[in-house]
Amino acid sequence: MVRLNFAHDTVDAHRKAAALADELAAERGRIVGVLVDLPGPKMRTGPVKGGEVTLEAGQRFVLGNGEVTGDASSVSTSVEDLASFVSAGDEVYLADGTIILRAKAVDGGVVTTEVVRGGVLRSRKGMHVPGAERHIEAFTEEDARSLHHAVDLGADLVGLSFVRDADDIRRARSALPTHGPRPLLVAKIETRSAVENLDAIADEADAVMVARGDLGIQMPLRELPLIQKDIIRTCNLNGVPVITATQMLESMTRAPLPTRAEVADVANAVLDGTDALMLSEETAVGDHPAASVTTMAEVAEEAETRSGHRLKPVKEELVGDRVAWAVAHAAVEAAEDLEVAAILCPTQSGSTVRRVAAFRPSVPIIGLSAQPPVLGAMALIWGVTPVSCEDLESDLGPDVLERAVAVARDQRVVGTGDLVVVVTGAAGHTDLMRIVEV
Ligand code: PGA
Ligand code: MN
Repeated sequence: MVRLNFAHDTVDAHRKAAALADELAAERGRIVGVLVDLPGPKMRTGPVKGGEVTLEAGQRFVLGNGEVTGDASSVSTSVEDLASFVSAGDEVYLADGTIILRAKAVDGGVVTTEVVRGGVLRSRKGMHVPGAERHIEAFTEEDARSLHHAVDLGADLVGLSFVRDADDIRRARSALPTHGPRPLLVAKIETRSAVENLDAIADEADAVMVARGDLGIQMPLRELPLIQKDIIRTCNLNGVPVITATQMLESMTRAPLPTRAEVADVANAVLDGTDALMLSEETAVGDHPAASVTTMAEVAEEAETRSGHRLKPVKEELVGDRVAWAVAHAAVEAAEDLEVAAILCPTQSGSTVRRVAAFRPSVPIIGLSAQPPVLGAMALIWGVTPVSCEDLESDLGPDVLERAVAVARDQRVVGTGDLVVVVTGAAGHTDLMRIVEV
């Protein structure tokens, strides 16, 4: 997949990148999904004179409001009512936590602080006030505008930043267009509230991201590895695709080779059960973007040879459509028993593929769909190869099984004499399975 982060760059640049990704994928006969991240309510400090100022431990520093340019004694912030949720004694973290301030007094919308740990403050850096996100809705007006642009440029998935609970996702969902392609929603887990509300979020979102960058600021760093495992485990048990993100091969932004620790991190995320791995600055601004992707893919493939104890959904945990889960489970059992060549999933919403993949079968899963966002989103799911199948357009219909087999044969995914399991159902449902010899 390609991720376009709307927190950076212009919509125009993202539109060009999305078009280029489509073009290159088409040339290679492959499906490459596009994930657009909405910026969310990230709190930031304002511009500073000369682009950077140095704060010394012990000095006074004022967080104000308004459009003024900051200096070594004060800076504006992107938060209108910062003073309403900061009290004397609270800590405020700037620039990814490198600078720590302690609030001394709150007066007339202005927060006066003492610098606890100094450092260099550049213009428009991230600001974090522990607990503040409880006061700030995740799906902002800017996000709603960005969502429009995302749909417009053909996003298959939309990442929601700094969500706190399932309501933040529901609000984004209700802002999706009612006609035409609808991207799936990825909940980025990067606040303490989101960690606390993980179960409800996993029920509501179409996919989840372990957003370790911001999560590592909002939670004690030492807890991050265990939180990662908890999030992945919850997602695996509920059949929700999950992405592990940030600093996975960070040193490759500059160096041609990763560190041992980074290689271990990528492999361990796979062993934890992640569906997808994400690169950020390694490919966005790095010196070795292609090598970063190749390295990550090689390490992941090697780790996958050893994932014999995959965590699979258990009956008690599965919510919603019980028939659909039972049919998907039966399909995977049959596929394993018969050692079939592939499991073919003609799907309208992608939900059949998600359920089948949740049981982590040892045979390839082929997701067939006519809908671009469904195809692109399937690229994210563990073990799934999306295949475009235009005549599945409207209704899956009674001859869906034959058509799926025909397309898989045309595309040489399966060959004559192969045994395949075909599993499908009406949109959002899974209730039909057949075993076919091609
Ligand atoms: P970001 O999200 O790169 O959009 O900040 C991922 C993270 O926080 O880890
Ligand atoms: Mn983030």
